[in-house]
Amino acid sequence: MSDRLSEPLAELLDHLNGIGYEELYLPGAGVPDPHARGPAGTPATDAADSEERAVALGELATEASECAACRLSEGRKQVVFGSGNPDADLMLVGEGPGAEEDRRGLPFVGPAGELLTKILRAIDLERDEVYIANVVKCRPPSNRDPERDEIAACRGYLERQIELVRPRVIVALGRVAAQALFGTTEALGRLRGRWHTVRGVPARATYHPAALLRYSKYKRPTWEDMQEVRDRLRGGE
Ligand code: SF4
Repeated sequence: MSDRLSEPLAELLDHLNGIGYEELYLPGAGVPDPHARGPAGTPATDAADSEERAVALGELATEASECAACRLSEGRKQVVFGSGNPDADLMLVGEGPGAEEDRRGLPFVGPAGELLTKILRAIDLERDEVYIANVVKCRPPSNRDPERDEIAACRGYLERQIELVRPRVIVALGRVAAQALFGTTEALGRLRGRWHTVRGVPARATYHPAALLRYSKYKRPTWEDMQEVRDRLRGGE
């Protein structure tokens, strides 16, 4: 195990202990590139462009808040559209809101969200620097997986979020998100460990933080995935 690995692992373990997981041991589609910022961009035009995209993202969130395009609208308390930096280099995509997210209107809150924050810090990112969304914006009942038609109904929002945020890298968190983003039924174990492309954006898959809380064996591969993401972001590709 490299030195680079040990410190973030220790931090994650400390974090898990801090939130009550003392018993847990965690070992170590053919569209133009939407993240191209344009060769003629000056600081002023870039800022105006960012502002316009942030406004458009807000308008899309407002539109989604009334959405009843699938049956998930029936049981939700509120739509959990997404959160974070509308001009982020890194976009994280999860499966769908859970009970706490549905109550608070934000993605990745609660223990899994706290762990996600620690994972991001391990690659030198604060949570408010990234953008976080889910493949479905409304909570599936009893936390079941979203169904294929629900994911399809919600896909337009996610695609628009990707177009507006223009991340340089996307990370799919968990099997459902990875399969939905990459348009496949392949197992997560076969999807992670290599780069994919989502609407022109390089994308990786890794384990969902909730799975990390339950299964210690996922910690090392998750860290390896996030190192790849960090290196890609630092590489400025
Ligand atoms: S999950 Fe998506 S498509 Fe379905 S009601 Fe909610 S916002 Fe609309």
